Amino acid sequence: MRVPTETHEHPPILAALRERLGKRAAAVRSDAATRAAYASDASIYRVPPAAVVEPHDADDVAAVLDAARATATPVTARGGGTSVAGNAIGSGIVVDFATRMNRIIGIDPEARTATVQPGVVLDDLRAAAAPHGLTFGPDPSTHSRCTIGGMIGNNACGSHSVAWGTTADNVVALTHLLPDGRRLTASRGGSGDPGLDARLAQWRAPHLGVLRTELDRFGRQVSGYGLHHLLPENGFDVAKALVGSESTCGLVTEATVRLVEVPAARALLVLGFPDVFAAAAAAPDLARSGAMTVEGMASDLLDALRSRPGRAGAGADLPAGQGWLYCEFGGATAAEAYDAAARVAAGLRDAATAVIVADPARARALWRIRESGAGIVTRMADGGEAWPGWEDSAVPPERLAGYLKDLYALLGEHGLRGVPFGHFGEGCLHLRCDFDLGSERGLAAYRSFITDAAALVAAHGGSVSGEHGDGRARSELLAAMYSPAMLRAFSEFKALFDPDGLLNPGVLVAPAPLDEAVRPGPGHAALEITPVHAFGADGGSFAGEVRRCVGVGACRSTDTGSMCPSFKATRDEVHSTRGRARVLSEMLRGETVTDGWRSEEVRDALDLCLSCKACASECPVNVDMATYKAEFLYHHYEGRVRPMAHYSMGWLPVWSRLATAARPVARAVNAALALPKVAALVQKAGGIEPRRSMIRFAEKPLRASARLRDRKRARKRARPAPATGPTVVVWPDTFTNFHSPEVGRDAVAVLEALGYRVEFPDGAVCCGLTWHSTGQLDAAKRMLRRSLDAMAAQLAAGCPVVGLEPSCTVMLRDEARALLPDDPRAQRLAEQTVTLAELVAAHEGEWPFGTVDAAAVAQVHCHQEAKGSYDADLAVLRRLGVDPDVVGAGCCGLAGNFGFEPGHYEVSQACAERELFPKVRAAGEEDLVLADGFSCRTQVAQGTERTGRHLAQVLRSALRR
Ligand SMILES: Cc1cc2nc3c(=O)[nH]c(=O)nc-3n(C[C@H](O)[C@H](O)[C@H](O)COP(=O)(O)OP(=O)(O)OC[C@H]3O[C@@H](n4cnc5c(N)ncnc54)[C@H](O)[C@@H]3O)c2cc1C
Ligand code: SF4
Repeated sequence: MRVPTETHEHPPILAALRERLGKRAAAVRSDAATRAAYASDASIYRVPPAAVVEPHDADDVAAVLDAARATATPVTARGGGTSVAGNAIGSGIVVDFATRMNRIIGIDPEARTATVQPGVVLDDLRAAAAPHGLTFGPDPSTHSRCTIGGMIGNNACGSHSVAWGTTADNVVALTHLLPDGRRLTASRGGSGDPGLDARLAQWRAPHLGVLRTELDRFGRQVSGYGLHHLLPENGFDVAKALVGSESTCGLVTEATVRLVEVPAARALLVLGFPDVFAAAAAAPDLARSGAMTVEGMASDLLDALRSRPGRAGAGADLPAGQGWLYCEFGGATAAEAYDAAARVAAGLRDAATAVIVADPARARALWRIRESGAGIVTRMADGGEAWPGWEDSAVPPERLAGYLKDLYALLGEHGLRGVPFGHFGEGCLHLRCDFDLGSERGLAAYRSFITDAAALVAAHGGSVSGEHGDGRARSELLAAMYSPAMLRAFSEFKALFDPDGLLNPGVLVAPAPLDEAVRPGPGHAALEITPVHAFGADGGSFAGEVRRCVGVGACRSTDTGSMCPSFKATRDEVHSTRGRARVLSEMLRGETVTDGWRSEEVRDALDLCLSCKACASECPVNVDMATYKAEFLYHHYEGRVRPMAHYSMGWLPVWSRLATAARPVARAVNAALALPKVAALVQKAGGIEPRRSMIRFAEKPLRASARLRDRKRARKRARPAPATGPTVVVWPDTFTNFHSPEVGRDAVAVLEALGYRVEFPDGAVCCGLTWHSTGQLDAAKRMLRRSLDAMAAQLAAGCPVVGLEPSCTVMLRDEARALLPDDPRAQRLAEQTVTLAELVAAHEGEWPFGTVDAAAVAQVHCHQEAKGSYDADLAVLRRLGVDPDVVGAGCCGLAGNFGFEPGHYEVSQACAERELFPKVRAAGEEDLVLADGFSCRTQVAQGTERTGRHLAQVLRSALRR
């Protein structure tokens, strides 16, 4: 667990915070790992804070502001930290609203409003409003983790803004705290503070002209303050004027927002165009056609998506074209929605191909392509880096096609590549470019492009930001689109709320230079080493791997997907994939975390990572924290004594071999470990969590029983195995061989029934998994090399190698190559390794199985889910008549040694309680509990009354005798 170590760099503010918050529920954190984790959002910028405060209520926030004022310390609010422009980072106190101020206070279905604390995640509000047929309209792609406070801060919106507008359009009232302690209750008509209202009216009088001519020219003019809402004709709406102020004018502690009716049915019309410009030109008319979305993308985005592992077939359902528009239509019935889409498709003048999808699952699959865009294009199709900076410019929709053409030309002039997509119906364009941010020259080129792009968008009457806000990336550029008079009005407005400039300095007014504090800038890889893993996709650079995390925060989603179980359990940024990447990144810079590879802060931040590898597949840029953790642990403990768990569980294959050397030994060991006092002693000495039961050792390991069987068969002159069938080699992993040999025996029986000649490796083998996960990489490599030696003949003969334990199978297919990139045998082993399910599913001969006819709860091993597929298993199960309910929450929580290590028990149990345990407990007695992973079966056995079964066991039971 993380043990915070306080920094003493900022004692006055820490003392002030402690004095005011000491007895309150808020958390004040200033340890290096926390400061590192909050150093960035989803932008290219890096500004480590002095401290992070997690307030519990508005009084805590008031206390923070008071401490900040007393010590002249800057304050920046933060929700999900998914801002792309450096809006949610600051050098003083970062107030994290997402962790504790995340309550939905109430929903009023009659009034169609919701009142929430600012840290409520958008999806949570949408889920709470759904039973009333209502939703919150603005829908950024980050809906699974962005907060209402952050949406208010940025005036966020998404694909449905065509129908439901931006956040400002949907805010009714705000409770808003100012640094001087005042609490505003802002709404239409005033701020709740008559004195402030009078000053606002006074301020407004000389600025009426610019407010009327320069602001609110089109829907996505998000840059600057939304001061047009203060015009008399707009009702002097102070709440709406504060939306988009990016915590520069106060902190929101409560918001009342408008909810909108959700159409009962939707149909998706996807239009294909010859190019993206034709799509952009068609967008304004479609936006007026009644469509609820008009989203555009070009073929480059599809190419980027298809370059990702397992996504080669993405977009097969799209209509022909090189540019597409996604237009969604609503209706009271599916037919009504479909007809609305069909009418619009039929009325299109220009040549466009069309697909109309009413089936929600197919529509979701199509949407996923567009929604993946923002994360996916952080890498170019060829694997090169792509960065935000000019990521959300907007123009009046009628000018989008022209702007887009000019923008492509500008990219060409600057020698840059980018992948455009976005909210075409609203004229808002997302673009990430292959900026070289790692050198002084590259930063100068970045400034040059951004400055030219700002001039270009202004020439098209547009806005430098169309939804993400200005932050550090674009505040400096406001001068390109606004007159000096308008900029003066902005400054004066801010001063009415924050006269001392404490709130989010550098943003909107008195802007920070856009090329200052760039995270991937020069010096970011000061501690670069030659890593043990190949990291081939990033040129062999560990810093390059870590830099993959651009901060989109998908790992912070708490309701969907498998990533990241430790964040889902703790809700702590430090224990998210992103937080860990930031901590590693600060270590590599040698800043914030200053003690390099020996850093205990980094070790502790990585400690709760289960090495489940969910991030390796679910993270849009495939951050593989399990591998980074192994690499870190290797360097951290190099030449030093390790925790006992690394010797006890990391060396499990050795202990298991010794404990099962002879039947009496295994019996004695099992009997001894069954005695509570002995078990407690072993657990203490071995660094094993005392609440865990010890695993048992097989009295007759798989290989020993196979040898015995062969001898018996030879004596009886029976054929050792079908002589004519192809030969397969069963990989006797430690768990199957020494702990669950029954699984291996059943697998052998199944394979022989299918006609295979089953062999075991010619010598002792081990994939090195337990050494790898504990960062003992030299030992892992030694094990792998020894195994490759033992298997040399069988590999050369091309025999398939059947993996039974999913994590070992992934080691053979994936990690072995990364650890031994120069050994061609590792490549061969990876290519020849198959799972039992894959072999059975592909079997074309006689089918020797009957049916099982049962329902099942199926726990897919997290490594199989991340690096393989469960499709073959599903195909086999269905053929056997098994109806599987697949657990969708990812890792079982045990994750090899993780759940057995002290300090992990709570997180381990919390992971299992998300879905696995409840489903297993609810399963009927006749239902099967399926779990191919030894860890998963152990977790089920220790947490429920049930016993998990391997697919081999199910197949064996279905064999016709
Ligand atoms: C992959 C990706 C896709 C995105 N897609 C979209 C999109 O489609 N549309 C869109 O609009 N944005 C999008 N964004 C940007 C961002 O996700 C949204 O703007 C989101 O609403 C920010 O919410 P958050 O909770 O993460 O806020 P944060 O990033 O934490 O904060 C946003 C701003 O709000 C301020 N703030 C936070 N809480 C408060 C508070 N209580 N009081 C006052 N100010 C506060 C912060 O200081 C900051 O200036 C995207 C970002 C990414 C990485
Ligand atoms: S490996 Fe699993 S626990 Fe670790 S960071 Fe990735 S998703 Fe989170």
